[in-house]
Amino acid sequence: VEQYLVRIDENRHLNAFTEVYATEARQQAEAIDQKLAAGTAGRLAGMVVGIKDVLSYTGHGVRAGSKILDNFTAQFTATAVQRLLDEDVIIIGRQNCDEFAMGSSNENSSFGPVLNAADTSRVPGGSSGGSAVAVQAGLCLASIGSDTGGSVRQPAAFCGVVGLKPTYGRISRWGLIAYASSFDCIGPIANTVDDAALLLEIMAGPDAFDSTVSSQPVSAYSQATLPDRPLRIAYLRDGIESSGVDPSIREATQAKIDALRKAGHTVEPVDISLIKYLLPTYYILTTAEASSNLSRFDGVRYGYRSLSNDTPALDLLSLYKKSRTEGFGAEVRKRILLGTFALSASYYDAYYTKAQQVRRLIRQEAEQLFEQYDFLLSPTTPTPAFRLGEKTGGSANDDPLQMYLADIFTVQANVVGYPAISIPAGTDANGLPIGIQLMAPPFAEEALVALARKM
Ligand code: GLN
Repeated sequence: VEQYLVRIDENRHLNAFTEVYATEARQQAEAIDQKLAAGTAGRLAGMVVGIKDVLSYTGHGVRAGSKILDNFTAQFTATAVQRLLDEDVIIIGRQNCDEFAMGSSNENSSFGPVLNAADTSRVPGGSSGGSAVAVQAGLCLASIGSDTGGSVRQPAAFCGVVGLKPTYGRISRWGLIAYASSFDCIGPIANTVDDAALLLEIMAGPDAFDSTVSSQPVSAYSQATLPDRPLRIAYLRDGIESSGVDPSIREATQAKIDALRKAGHTVEPVDISLIKYLLPTYYILTTAEASSNLSRFDGVRYGYRSLSNDTPALDLLSLYKKSRTEGFGAEVRKRILLGTFALSASYYDAYYTKAQQVRRLIRQEAEQLFEQYDFLLSPTTPTPAFRLGEKTGGSANDDPLQMYLADIFTVQANVVGYPAISIPAGTDANGLPIGIQLMAPPFAEEALVALARKM
Protein backbone atom coordinates (compact mmCIF):
# COMPACT_ATOMS: atom_id res chain seq x y z
CA VAL A 1 0.00 0.00 0.00
CA GLU A 2 2.77 2.42 0.92
CA GLN A 3 4.55 1.74 -2.33
CA TYR A 4 1.43 2.39 -4.39
CA LEU A 5 0.66 5.56 -2.43
CA VAL A 6 4.13 6.88 -3.22
CA ARG A 7 3.76 6.01 -6.90
CA ILE A 8 0.32 7.62 -7.05
CA ASP A 9 1.82 10.74 -5.56
CA GLU A 10 4.72 10.75 -8.02
CA ASN A 11 2.30 10.38 -10.92
CA ARG A 12 -0.36 12.95 -10.02
CA HIS A 13 0.15 14.54 -13.45
CA LEU A 14 -1.39 11.45 -15.10
CA ASN A 15 -4.68 12.31 -13.34
CA ALA A 16 -5.62 8.61 -13.04
CA PHE A 17 -7.24 8.81 -9.61
CA THR A 18 -9.98 11.22 -8.62
CA GLU A 19 -9.75 10.26 -4.97
CA VAL A 20 -7.21 8.21 -3.03
CA TYR A 21 -8.24 6.33 0.09
CA ALA A 22 -4.83 6.39 1.79
CA THR A 23 -5.87 6.06 5.44
CA GLU A 24 -8.48 3.47 4.70
CA ALA A 25 -6.18 1.39 2.50
CA ARG A 26 -3.61 1.31 5.32
CA GLN A 27 -6.31 0.19 7.75
CA GLN A 28 -7.49 -2.49 5.33
CA ALA A 29 -3.92 -3.71 4.96
CA GLU A 30 -3.46 -3.97 8.72
CA ALA A 31 -6.71 -5.87 9.14
CA ILE A 32 -5.65 -8.27 6.40
CA ASP A 33 -2.26 -8.77 8.05
CA GLN A 34 -4.09 -9.99 11.12
CA LYS A 35 -6.29 -12.28 9.06
CA LEU A 36 -3.21 -13.67 7.36
CA ALA A 37 -1.67 -14.41 10.74
CA ALA A 38 -4.88 -16.12 11.80
CA GLY A 39 -5.09 -18.07 8.53
CA THR A 40 -8.46 -16.54 7.61
CA ALA A 41 -7.44 -14.23 4.76
CA GLY A 42 -9.41 -14.23 1.50
CA ARG A 43 -8.22 -15.17 -1.97
CA LEU A 44 -7.34 -11.62 -2.94
CA ALA A 45 -5.42 -10.76 0.20
CA GLY A 46 -2.68 -8.31 -0.75
CA MET A 47 -4.19 -7.27 -4.05
CA VAL A 48 -4.40 -3.49 -4.26
CA VAL A 49 -7.05 -2.34 -6.73
CA GLY A 50 -8.65 0.86 -7.92
CA ILE A 51 -12.27 1.22 -9.00
CA LYS A 52 -13.67 3.30 -11.82
CA ASP A 53 -15.70 6.30 -10.71
CA VAL A 54 -18.97 4.64 -11.80
CA LEU A 55 -18.94 1.92 -9.12
CA SER A 56 -20.74 2.55 -5.88
CA TYR A 57 -18.82 1.96 -2.65
CA THR A 58 -20.80 2.79 0.43
CA GLY A 59 -19.77 5.94 2.25
CA HIS A 60 -17.51 7.01 -0.62
CA GLY A 61 -18.08 9.60 -3.27
CA VAL A 62 -19.05 8.47 -6.75
CA ARG A 63 -19.26 11.03 -9.52
CA ALA A 64 -19.21 9.18 -12.85
CA GLY A 65 -16.74 11.87 -13.91
CA SER A 66 -19.62 14.35 -13.79
CA LYS A 67 -20.34 17.60 -12.07
CA ILE A 68 -23.96 16.53 -11.71
CA LEU A 69 -22.93 14.10 -8.96
CA ASP A 70 -20.93 16.72 -7.03
CA ASN A 71 -20.80 15.85 -3.34
CA PHE A 72 -22.83 12.69 -3.85
CA THR A 73 -22.00 9.78 -1.55
CA ALA A 74 -22.87 6.17 -2.37
CA GLN A 75 -25.32 4.58 0.03
CA PHE A 76 -24.53 0.99 -0.85
CA THR A 77 -21.73 -1.02 -2.42
CA ALA A 78 -21.81 -2.52 -5.91
CA THR A 79 -22.11 -6.31 -5.76
CA ALA A 80 -18.91 -6.76 -7.79
CA VAL A 81 -16.98 -4.50 -5.42
CA GLN A 82 -18.44 -6.21 -2.35
CA ARG A 83 -17.34 -9.61 -3.64
CA LEU A 84 -13.78 -8.34 -4.02
CA LEU A 85 -13.86 -6.86 -0.52
CA ASP A 86 -15.15 -10.16 0.84
CA GLU A 87 -11.95 -11.74 -0.54
CA ASP A 88 -9.82 -9.07 1.14
CA VAL A 89 -8.93 -6.85 -1.74
CA ILE A 90 -7.59 -3.41 -0.74
CA ILE A 91 -9.27 -0.49 -2.50
CA ILE A 92 -6.79 2.33 -2.92
CA GLY A 93 -9.04 4.83 -4.65
CA ARG A 94 -11.47 5.66 -7.38
CA GLN A 95 -10.40 6.34 -10.90
CA ASN A 96 -11.00 9.05 -13.44
CA CYS A 97 -13.19 8.23 -16.45
CA ASP A 98 -15.23 9.84 -19.19
CA GLU A 99 -18.44 11.36 -17.88
CA PHE A 100 -21.03 8.61 -17.45
CA ALA A 101 -18.61 6.32 -19.32
CA MET A 102 -19.28 8.17 -22.57
CA GLY A 103 -16.09 8.51 -24.53
CA SER A 104 -13.03 6.84 -26.00
CA SER A 105 -10.28 9.15 -24.77
CA ASN A 106 -11.03 10.17 -21.20
CA GLU A 107 -11.27 13.76 -22.36
CA ASN A 108 -14.93 14.00 -21.34
CA SER A 109 -14.30 14.01 -17.60
CA SER A 110 -15.19 16.88 -15.30
CA PHE A 111 -11.94 16.02 -13.49
CA GLY A 112 -9.92 16.74 -16.65
CA PRO A 113 -8.22 14.32 -19.01
CA VAL A 114 -6.05 11.36 -18.03
CA LEU A 115 -2.63 11.09 -19.70
CA ASN A 116 -1.19 7.94 -21.23
CA ALA A 117 1.93 6.96 -19.27
CA ALA A 118 3.63 5.67 -22.45
CA ASP A 119 3.48 9.18 -23.94
CA THR A 120 1.82 11.93 -21.95
CA SER A 121 0.85 13.88 -25.08
CA ARG A 122 -1.52 11.00 -25.89
CA VAL A 123 -4.86 9.84 -24.55
CA PRO A 124 -5.16 6.65 -22.49
CA GLY A 125 -8.34 5.63 -24.27
CA GLY A 126 -11.70 5.58 -22.57
CA SER A 127 -13.93 5.55 -20.92
CA SER A 128 -12.00 3.59 -18.25
CA GLY A 129 -8.85 5.61 -18.97
CA GLY A 130 -7.86 6.23 -15.35
CA SER A 131 -8.28 2.54 -14.59
CA ALA A 132 -6.01 1.48 -17.46
CA VAL A 133 -3.32 4.08 -16.72
CA ALA A 134 -3.32 3.16 -13.03
CA VAL A 135 -2.33 -0.41 -13.95
CA GLN A 136 0.03 0.72 -16.72
CA ALA A 137 1.91 3.08 -14.39
CA GLY A 138 1.96 0.68 -11.44
CA LEU A 139 -0.36 2.78 -9.26
CA CYS A 140 -2.30 -0.34 -8.29
CA LEU A 141 -2.16 -4.01 -9.23
CA ALA A 142 -5.51 -4.14 -11.01
CA SER A 143 -8.54 -1.99 -11.73
CA ILE A 144 -12.25 -2.56 -12.14
CA GLY A 145 -13.75 -0.73 -15.10
CA SER A 146 -16.93 -0.89 -17.13
CA ASP A 147 -17.37 -1.67 -20.81
CA THR A 148 -20.43 -0.60 -22.79
CA GLY A 149 -18.79 -0.43 -26.21
CA GLY A 150 -15.13 -1.06 -25.50
CA SER A 151 -14.37 1.01 -22.42
CA VAL A 152 -12.31 -1.69 -20.72
CA ARG A 153 -10.64 -3.17 -23.81
CA GLN A 154 -9.80 -0.02 -25.77
CA PRO A 155 -7.97 1.77 -22.92
CA ALA A 156 -6.27 -1.53 -22.01
CA ALA A 157 -4.98 -1.70 -25.60
CA PHE A 158 -3.80 1.93 -25.57
CA CYS A 159 -1.97 1.34 -22.28
CA GLY A 160 -0.45 -2.09 -22.92
CA VAL A 161 -2.42 -4.01 -20.29
CA VAL A 162 -5.09 -6.73 -20.24
CA GLY A 163 -8.79 -5.78 -20.34
CA LEU A 164 -11.61 -8.30 -20.09
CA LYS A 165 -15.27 -7.71 -20.92
CA PRO A 166 -17.32 -10.71 -19.81
CA THR A 167 -20.54 -11.99 -21.33
CA TYR A 168 -23.47 -9.65 -20.72
CA GLY A 169 -25.05 -10.72 -17.43
CA ARG A 170 -21.97 -12.58 -16.15
CA ILE A 171 -21.30 -9.93 -13.47
CA SER A 172 -24.05 -8.14 -11.58
CA ARG A 173 -24.55 -4.50 -12.55
CA TRP A 174 -25.98 -3.64 -9.13
CA GLY A 175 -24.21 -0.51 -7.98
CA LEU A 176 -22.81 0.34 -11.41
CA ILE A 177 -24.04 3.74 -12.54
CA ALA A 178 -25.89 2.94 -15.75
CA TYR A 179 -24.95 4.25 -19.17
CA ALA A 180 -26.80 1.80 -21.47
CA SER A 181 -28.28 -1.02 -19.43
CA SER A 182 -28.50 -3.65 -22.16
CA PHE A 183 -24.82 -3.15 -23.04
CA ASP A 184 -23.07 -2.34 -19.74
CA CYS A 185 -20.60 -4.88 -18.33
CA ILE A 186 -18.20 -4.59 -15.43
CA GLY A 187 -14.73 -5.88 -16.29
CA PRO A 188 -11.23 -6.15 -14.84
CA ILE A 189 -8.05 -4.48 -16.11
CA ALA A 190 -4.78 -6.12 -15.02
CA ASN A 191 -1.19 -6.79 -15.99
CA THR A 192 -1.83 -10.47 -16.63
CA VAL A 193 -4.62 -12.64 -17.98
CA ASP A 194 -4.40 -14.70 -14.78
CA ASP A 195 -5.23 -11.75 -12.55
CA ALA A 196 -8.05 -10.66 -14.85
CA ALA A 197 -9.46 -14.21 -14.80
CA LEU A 198 -9.28 -14.44 -11.02
CA LEU A 199 -11.04 -11.10 -10.59
CA LEU A 200 -13.74 -12.21 -13.02
CA GLU A 201 -14.18 -15.48 -11.16
CA ILE A 202 -14.73 -13.64 -7.89
CA MET A 203 -17.04 -10.93 -9.24
CA ALA A 204 -19.20 -13.19 -11.46
CA GLY A 205 -22.39 -15.03 -10.65
CA PRO A 206 -26.03 -14.62 -9.67
CA ASP A 207 -27.17 -11.70 -7.59
CA ALA A 208 -30.64 -11.10 -6.21
CA PHE A 209 -30.20 -7.35 -6.88
CA ASP A 210 -29.84 -7.70 -10.66
CA SER A 211 -32.42 -9.74 -12.52
CA THR A 212 -30.37 -9.72 -15.73
CA VAL A 213 -27.51 -11.69 -14.19
CA SER A 214 -27.12 -15.19 -15.52
CA SER A 215 -27.47 -18.19 -13.24
CA GLN A 216 -24.94 -20.13 -15.32
CA PRO A 217 -22.38 -21.64 -12.96
CA VAL A 218 -19.16 -19.69 -12.56
CA SER A 219 -16.13 -21.74 -13.59
CA ALA A 220 -12.65 -21.53 -12.15
CA TYR A 221 -11.54 -19.11 -14.86
CA SER A 222 -8.17 -18.70 -13.24
CA GLN A 223 -7.49 -22.44 -13.75
CA ALA A 224 -8.93 -22.64 -17.27
CA THR A 225 -7.21 -24.82 -19.87
CA LEU A 226 -7.80 -25.16 -23.60
CA PRO A 227 -9.47 -28.17 -25.19
CA ASP A 228 -6.89 -30.65 -26.43
CA ARG A 229 -7.57 -30.14 -30.14
CA PRO A 230 -6.70 -27.62 -32.81
CA LEU A 231 -8.85 -24.54 -32.44
CA ARG A 232 -10.92 -22.91 -35.15
CA ILE A 233 -10.13 -19.23 -35.11
CA ALA A 234 -11.65 -16.63 -37.40
CA TYR A 235 -9.99 -13.30 -37.91
CA LEU A 236 -11.64 -10.17 -39.16
CA ARG A 237 -10.41 -9.51 -42.69
CA ASP A 238 -10.99 -5.77 -42.21
CA GLY A 239 -8.67 -5.87 -39.20
CA ILE A 240 -5.81 -6.71 -41.55
CA GLU A 241 -6.83 -5.31 -44.92
CA SER A 242 -8.70 -2.11 -44.18
CA SER A 243 -6.77 1.04 -45.06
CA GLY A 244 -8.00 2.59 -41.80
CA VAL A 245 -5.87 0.17 -39.79
CA ASP A 246 -2.44 1.45 -38.82
CA PRO A 247 0.39 -0.60 -40.40
CA SER A 248 1.91 -1.37 -36.98
CA ILE A 249 -1.39 -2.83 -35.84
CA ARG A 250 -1.77 -4.82 -39.04
CA GLU A 251 1.68 -6.33 -38.52
CA ALA A 252 1.05 -7.16 -34.87
CA THR A 253 -2.23 -8.85 -35.77
CA GLN A 254 -0.64 -10.78 -38.61
CA ALA A 255 2.13 -11.95 -36.26
CA LYS A 256 -0.47 -13.37 -33.86
CA ILE A 257 -2.25 -15.11 -36.74
CA ASP A 258 1.01 -16.65 -37.91
CA ALA A 259 1.88 -17.84 -34.40
CA LEU A 260 -1.53 -19.45 -33.96
CA ARG A 261 -1.20 -21.24 -37.30
CA LYS A 262 2.24 -22.43 -36.35
CA ALA A 263 0.77 -23.88 -33.16
CA GLY A 264 -1.49 -26.03 -35.33
CA HIS A 265 -4.74 -24.07 -35.17
CA THR A 266 -6.96 -23.25 -38.12
CA VAL A 267 -7.02 -19.49 -38.64
CA GLU A 268 -9.24 -18.12 -41.43
CA PRO A 269 -10.38 -14.68 -42.55
CA VAL A 270 -14.06 -13.77 -42.21
CA ASP A 271 -16.14 -10.73 -43.03
CA ILE A 272 -18.89 -9.31 -40.91
CA SER A 273 -21.36 -8.28 -43.56
CA LEU A 274 -23.14 -5.91 -41.16
CA ILE A 275 -19.95 -4.20 -39.96
CA LYS A 276 -21.01 -0.81 -41.27
CA TYR A 277 -24.15 -0.96 -39.14
CA LEU A 278 -22.32 -1.72 -35.88
CA LEU A 279 -21.57 1.85 -34.84
CA PRO A 280 -24.95 3.32 -35.91
CA THR A 281 -26.80 0.55 -34.08
CA TYR A 282 -24.62 0.99 -31.03
CA TYR A 283 -25.00 4.76 -30.91
CA ILE A 284 -28.76 4.81 -31.50
CA LEU A 285 -29.49 2.20 -28.85
CA THR A 286 -26.99 3.36 -26.23
CA THR A 287 -28.02 6.99 -26.49
CA ALA A 288 -31.68 5.96 -26.26
CA GLU A 289 -31.00 3.94 -23.13
CA ALA A 290 -28.77 6.69 -21.72
CA SER A 291 -31.44 9.35 -22.21
CA SER A 292 -33.77 7.26 -20.09
CA ASN A 293 -31.18 6.22 -17.48
CA LEU A 294 -29.90 9.74 -17.01
CA SER A 295 -33.34 11.26 -16.53
CA ARG A 296 -32.98 10.55 -12.80
CA PHE A 297 -30.32 13.24 -12.49
CA ASP A 298 -32.72 16.13 -12.10
CA GLY A 299 -30.97 18.40 -9.61
CA VAL A 300 -33.26 17.18 -6.85
CA ARG A 301 -32.48 13.57 -6.09
CA TYR A 302 -28.71 13.54 -6.47
CA GLY A 303 -25.69 15.77 -6.29
CA TYR A 304 -25.55 19.02 -8.19
CA ARG A 305 -28.38 21.53 -8.14
CA SER A 306 -28.31 24.82 -9.96
CA LEU A 307 -28.12 27.64 -7.43
CA SER A 308 -27.24 30.33 -9.88
CA ASN A 309 -28.35 33.67 -8.45
CA ASP A 310 -28.21 35.61 -11.72
CA THR A 311 -31.21 33.83 -13.17
CA PRO A 312 -32.65 31.60 -10.45
CA ALA A 313 -35.01 28.85 -11.47
CA LEU A 314 -38.56 30.02 -10.96
CA ASP A 315 -40.39 26.74 -11.33
CA LEU A 316 -39.68 23.04 -11.04
CA LEU A 317 -39.17 22.44 -14.75
CA SER A 318 -36.63 25.23 -15.08
CA LEU A 319 -34.87 23.91 -11.96
CA TYR A 320 -34.44 20.58 -13.76
CA LYS A 321 -33.35 22.26 -16.96
CA LYS A 322 -30.82 24.56 -15.34
CA SER A 323 -29.37 21.82 -13.14
CA ARG A 324 -29.01 19.42 -16.04
CA THR A 325 -27.63 22.04 -18.42
CA GLU A 326 -25.02 23.12 -15.90
CA GLY A 327 -24.33 19.68 -14.43
CA PHE A 328 -23.85 17.60 -17.57
CA GLY A 329 -20.93 18.06 -19.96
CA ALA A 330 -21.27 18.61 -23.71
CA GLU A 331 -20.91 14.96 -24.82
CA VAL A 332 -23.47 13.74 -22.29
CA ARG A 333 -25.94 16.47 -23.28
CA LYS A 334 -25.44 15.59 -26.94
CA ARG A 335 -26.17 11.92 -26.27
CA ILE A 336 -29.23 12.66 -24.16
CA LEU A 337 -30.60 14.76 -27.01
CA LEU A 338 -29.79 12.08 -29.62
CA GLY A 339 -31.40 9.39 -27.49
CA THR A 340 -34.47 11.47 -26.73
CA PHE A 341 -34.89 12.09 -30.45
CA ALA A 342 -34.56 8.39 -31.29
CA LEU A 343 -37.23 7.58 -28.69
CA SER A 344 -39.62 10.37 -29.61
CA ALA A 345 -43.07 9.39 -30.87
CA SER A 346 -42.54 10.39 -34.49
CA TYR A 347 -39.11 8.82 -34.87
CA TYR A 348 -39.29 5.80 -32.58
CA ASP A 349 -40.01 3.29 -35.35
CA ALA A 350 -37.58 4.78 -37.80
CA TYR A 351 -34.65 4.77 -35.37
CA TYR A 352 -35.14 2.86 -32.14
CA THR A 353 -37.20 -0.04 -33.50
CA LYS A 354 -35.06 -0.26 -36.61
CA ALA A 355 -31.86 -0.36 -34.55
CA GLN A 356 -33.31 -3.14 -32.38
CA GLN A 357 -34.07 -5.12 -35.54
CA VAL A 358 -30.55 -4.58 -36.84
CA ARG A 359 -29.18 -5.60 -33.47
CA ARG A 360 -30.98 -8.92 -33.83
CA LEU A 361 -29.52 -9.45 -37.30
CA ILE A 362 -26.03 -8.65 -36.01
CA ARG A 363 -26.54 -11.22 -33.26
CA GLN A 364 -27.73 -13.81 -35.78
CA GLU A 365 -24.64 -13.24 -37.87
CA ALA A 366 -22.46 -13.72 -34.79
CA GLU A 367 -24.30 -16.91 -33.87
CA GLN A 368 -23.66 -18.30 -37.33
CA LEU A 369 -20.02 -17.33 -37.17
CA PHE A 370 -19.53 -19.09 -33.86
CA GLU A 371 -21.16 -22.26 -35.15
CA GLN A 372 -18.03 -22.60 -37.26
CA TYR A 373 -15.38 -20.99 -35.09
CA ASP A 374 -14.29 -21.00 -31.45
CA PHE A 375 -12.89 -17.47 -31.48
CA LEU A 376 -12.89 -14.26 -33.46
CA LEU A 377 -9.60 -12.38 -33.51
CA SER A 378 -9.10 -8.76 -34.50
CA PRO A 379 -7.09 -5.73 -33.50
CA THR A 380 -8.64 -4.07 -30.45
CA THR A 381 -8.34 -0.64 -32.08
CA PRO A 382 -7.53 0.56 -35.60
CA THR A 383 -4.72 2.83 -34.36
CA PRO A 384 -2.50 3.19 -31.29
CA ALA A 385 -3.29 5.95 -28.78
CA PHE A 386 -4.01 9.24 -30.51
CA ARG A 387 -3.02 12.69 -29.30
CA LEU A 388 -5.00 14.66 -26.75
CA GLY A 389 -7.37 16.98 -28.57
CA GLU A 390 -6.89 15.17 -31.88
CA LYS A 391 -10.44 13.86 -32.13
CA THR A 392 -12.45 16.17 -29.94
CA GLY A 393 -13.96 18.11 -32.82
CA GLY A 394 -12.41 21.29 -31.43
CA SER A 395 -11.29 22.82 -34.70
CA ALA A 396 -13.34 23.34 -37.84
CA ASN A 397 -11.52 20.55 -39.68
CA ASP A 398 -12.14 17.95 -37.01
CA ASP A 399 -14.88 15.43 -37.47
CA PRO A 400 -16.30 14.44 -34.09
CA LEU A 401 -17.38 11.11 -35.58
CA GLN A 402 -13.68 10.20 -35.85
CA MET A 403 -13.72 9.49 -32.13
CA TYR A 404 -16.53 6.98 -32.53
CA LEU A 405 -14.48 5.07 -35.12
CA ALA A 406 -11.96 4.21 -32.39
CA ASP A 407 -14.59 1.70 -31.20
CA ILE A 408 -15.16 -0.06 -34.51
CA PHE A 409 -13.66 -3.39 -33.38
CA THR A 410 -14.93 -3.36 -29.80
CA VAL A 411 -18.64 -2.49 -30.07
CA GLN A 412 -19.68 -5.77 -31.72
CA ALA A 413 -19.10 -7.72 -28.49
CA ASN A 414 -21.45 -5.39 -26.63
CA VAL A 415 -24.09 -5.30 -29.36
CA VAL A 416 -24.26 -9.12 -29.20
CA GLY A 417 -23.39 -9.48 -25.51
CA TYR A 418 -20.41 -11.81 -26.06
CA PRO A 419 -17.22 -11.92 -23.97
CA ALA A 420 -14.01 -10.40 -25.34
CA ILE A 421 -10.53 -9.68 -24.08
CA SER A 422 -7.77 -7.32 -25.17
CA ILE A 423 -4.21 -8.48 -24.63
CA PRO A 424 -0.98 -6.58 -25.25
CA ALA A 425 0.79 -7.31 -28.54
CA GLY A 426 3.93 -5.24 -28.40
CA THR A 427 4.39 -1.62 -29.40
CA ASP A 428 4.70 0.43 -32.56
CA ALA A 429 7.89 2.20 -33.65
CA ASN A 430 7.15 5.05 -31.20
CA GLY A 431 6.74 2.70 -28.25
CA LEU A 432 2.96 3.02 -28.20
CA PRO A 433 1.19 -0.14 -27.01
CA ILE A 434 -0.85 -2.29 -29.39
CA GLY A 435 -3.74 -4.53 -28.34
CA ILE A 436 -5.20 -7.67 -29.89
CA GLN A 437 -8.78 -8.70 -29.21
CA LEU A 438 -10.25 -12.17 -28.90
CA MET A 439 -13.98 -12.70 -28.78
CA ALA A 440 -15.78 -15.93 -27.84
CA PRO A 441 -19.39 -17.12 -27.70
CA PRO A 442 -21.53 -16.39 -24.61
CA PHE A 443 -20.19 -17.85 -21.36
CA ALA A 444 -17.07 -19.22 -23.05
CA GLU A 445 -14.86 -17.13 -20.75
CA GLU A 446 -12.91 -20.23 -19.72
CA ALA A 447 -11.69 -20.89 -23.24
CA LEU A 448 -11.25 -17.17 -23.84
CA VAL A 449 -8.86 -16.63 -20.94
CA ALA A 450 -7.09 -19.93 -21.62
CA LEU A 451 -6.23 -18.92 -25.19
CA ALA A 452 -5.44 -15.34 -24.14
CA ARG A 453 -3.00 -16.68 -21.56
CA LYS A 454 -1.31 -18.88 -24.19
CA MET A 455 -1.00 -15.91 -26.54
N1 GLN B 1 -16.35 4.76 -26.47
C1 GLN B 1 -17.67 4.21 -26.45
C2 GLN B 1 -18.67 5.31 -26.19
O1 GLN B 1 -18.28 6.41 -26.20
C3 GLN B 1 -17.75 3.13 -25.43
C4 GLN B 1 -17.89 3.63 -24.05
C5 GLN B 1 -18.02 2.54 -23.06
O2 GLN B 1 -17.75 1.36 -23.34
N2 GLN B 1 -18.51 2.90 -21.88
O3 GLN B 1 -19.82 5.08 -26.00
